[in-house]
Order: sequence, then C-alpha cells, then structure tokens
Amino acid sequence: MVQSASMFEGKRGLVLGVANKRSIAWGIARRLAEGGAQLAFTYQGERIEQNVRELAAGVSSPLVTELDVRDDAAVERVFSEVADTFGGELDILVHSVAFAAAEDLEGRFTDTPRDRFWLAVDVSAYSLVATARAAEPLMETAGGGAIVTMTYLGGERAVPHYNVMGVAKATLDASVRYLAWDLGQKNIRVNAVSAGPVRTLAARSIAGFPTMESIVEERAPLHRHIAADDVGAAAAYLLSDDARNVTGTTLYVDSGYHAMGM
Ligand code: NAD
Repeated sequence: MVQSASMFEGKRGLVLGVANKRSIAWGIARRLAEGGAQLAFTYQGERIEQNVRELAAGVSSPLVTELDVRDDAAVERVFSEVADTFGGELDILVHSVAFAAAEDLEGRFTDTPRDRFWLAVDVSAYSLVATARAAEPLMETAGGGAIVTMTYLGGERAVPHYNVMGVAKATLDASVRYLAWDLGQKNIRVNAVSAGPVRTLAARSIAGFPTMESIVEERAPLHRHIAADDVGAAAAYLLSDDARNVTGTTLYVDSGYHAMGM
C-alpha cells in the first residue's frame, strides 16, 4: 500500500509512549502526521518531557501532557484534556507503552517477585484497557475509532530473557481480542502490531537483546532487521480506513520470524 498524503486528513489521534526519536511510537506518529492527522502526545516524567515536546512541535501538536499509566486520575485528566483539544472527539489511539524492572529481564522468570510481576502487567497490559475505556466515549462521538498497541512474539512463545514481559504481552494480546469484541459495537477497532527487535530505550534493558537481533538475522525468512518506520507503516494501515473491517488481530512486522519452527 502506498500511503496517501491525505490518508489521515481530519483525524485526531492520541499517542502514548514517545520517549525519543527512536521510539516505535514516534515511528507511528510520523506516519500519521505525514498523512495529515492532528496528534496529541503524552510523556512519562520530566526526564523525557523536553524530548517529547520538541518532537511534538515538529508535527504541530496541539497538546503535550504528562501521563503515568498507573495513575487512574491522570488517565481521566489526560482524556479530558484531549476532549477539550479535539472538540469532544477522538479517532485514533496509539498505545506503545511497556515496562518491566531490568532485573526481571535477566535471570529466571521463575524468580519474578509478586510486586514486579503485577507492575509489568499493570504498565504493559492493563494500561491498554484503562486508556481504551477512557477513549471510548470520545470515539463513539466521532462515529468510531481505531486503537493500536505494540506486542511481541515473547507473549506467545518462551523467549529467553523476555520473561515477565512475555507474560504481560500475553495479557495484552488477550486484552486486544476482548476489547475488540466489546468496542466493535461502537465501530471502534482494536489491533496489535507484533514487531521484531528494534533498538529503542526499552529494548536496551533486555539482557541478550543483541542475541535476539542476530538470531532474527540468521533465521527469519528475510534475514534482516526491521526499523521503527516499518512498524509505523503497519500501524498506519491498521489505523486507516483501509482496515475498516480488521479488528482483534495481530500484524507481524518481524521479517517473517514468527512463521519459523526452527
Ligand atoms: P521506548 O522506550 O521508546 O518506549 C516505551 C515507552 O513506554 C516510553 O515512552 C516510556 O516512557 C513508556 N512508559 C513506560 N512506563 C510508563 C508508565 N508507567 N506510564 C506511561 N508511559 C510509560 O521503547 P519502544 O521499543 O518504542 O517500546 C514501545 C512498545 O513497543 C512497547 O510496548 C514495547 O514492548 C513494544 N515492542 C518493542 C520492540 C522492540 O524491539 N523495541 C519489539 C516489540 C514490541
């Protein structure tokens, strides 16, 4: 598919999960902005605020606001700011947020303590449910909407070192399907992109990430790495009207790695 310059003209989106220009969320946002979408952004914490504000200014964003997805009151505040900014409507939600403690992405999954297990699931999976629920009335007013989240094969198969994040992704994947069922009533679609390894801030905390990359290069049918922009292109399709009858699914952008048995 060739993306048209006006593909997202008139669409209003909220993007969660930009940390810097390498973030997958930024790869998606760029595609949406090139297609004419108006985008609001959230950032987590003062440490990355300036980064996100500068990137957002580059696409003339009307709203940049703080959000820690663990905080229900903050989710409510952000969606009320979004409603004020976009006249009570929202067409697109990009969820590109995940977290697990670095010590749980090395060593044994078996040793994950209870509190950090729930932390990973809370930030990486429940946050989709909470933000989809908050987006629902705005999307309903808009006549429908599209939500996309980022997942990884480690939620379907055991990937050494991915550990508790794999369990969180399995929860996220199931949440996509249940949200798709509930929100389909209101013409709101919910899909996931399953990306192969991309060198981002979050990826750096996974022990053995370079090994994951070299295995993909050796074993994937296309024998090459993917870039955040490849994920951006796939997400743009899922968020576009071209995908109007696509929901509850996962699109793999991994050079075909998921198709292999060895
Ligand atoms: P990234 O570090 O650029 O993005 C992760 C984002 O999550 C950051 O913006 C961070 O601020 C945000 N975040 C973490 N905890 C948060 C919280 N409590 N509240 C709000 N935001 C919070 O890394 P990325 O690789 O672009 O990750 C984006 C998504 O893509 C994640 O869901 C990740 O699991 C997924 N993914 C990444 C890869 C990869 O190889 N990089 C592969 C498949 C899937």
